Amino acid sequence: MQNNTAISQLIEAGKWVSQKGWVPATGGNFSARTSTGFVVTASGHDKGSLTQAHFLQLDHQGERLAGAVKPSAETQLHLSLYQLIPDAQCVLHTHSVAATVLSQITQEHQLDLTGYEMQKALSGFTSHLETLSIPIFDNDQDIDRLSLLVSDHHLHTPIEHGVLIRGHGLYAVGRNIDEVRRHLEALEFLFSCELERLKIIGIQAGVTK
Ligand SMILES: [Zn+2]
Repeated sequence: MQNNTAISQLIEAGKWVSQKGWVPATGGNFSARTSTGFVVTASGHDKGSLTQAHFLQLDHQGERLAGAVKPSAETQLHLSLYQLIPDAQCVLHTHSVAATVLSQITQEHQLDLTGYEMQKALSGFTSHLETLSIPIFDNDQDIDRLSLLVSDHHLHTPIEHGVLIRGHGLYAVGRNIDEVRRHLEALEFLFSCELERLKIIGIQAGVTK
């Protein structure tokens, strides 16, 4: 894909993601694979009002080709996902309430979801009876170290739809902009449902004490 086309798609996605409330306070970052490497949003900036000037163009090793803006610290994780998943064309990283809280209260290193019709919105899923497992990695300000953990995990359990970073947010992955937007919306919906379910179970447990 051409850089300009990729950037236009991410600008549109940014408006939508921002309206959903998933990237508050300039959080999150977006990227897309291109013929020369990938384009990625710069550090900071409201993701609902991005322009071409808010992007960097990087090569396949993450070296800057164009863009005078400061790269996001999380650029390395985008690069790792492209290197690990040949089919990945777009990565949307969000900081939603549901992803943040659910990853924080889940003690395991994966979030298992089952019984939801919405699971079928994720590529490869045909039934609510299957279990969707999203890996959870502990948050780390050392993104190189975090990227290594994600890479190690991928060797034995390939990442398909995305990963959660604990107390931080979601990295959704897709084979094109439409798929990544569908994966992101489905996962955020599932996280919200699961969070509501856990809250109700918690309230019920308190009532029956
Ligand atoms: Zn983040």
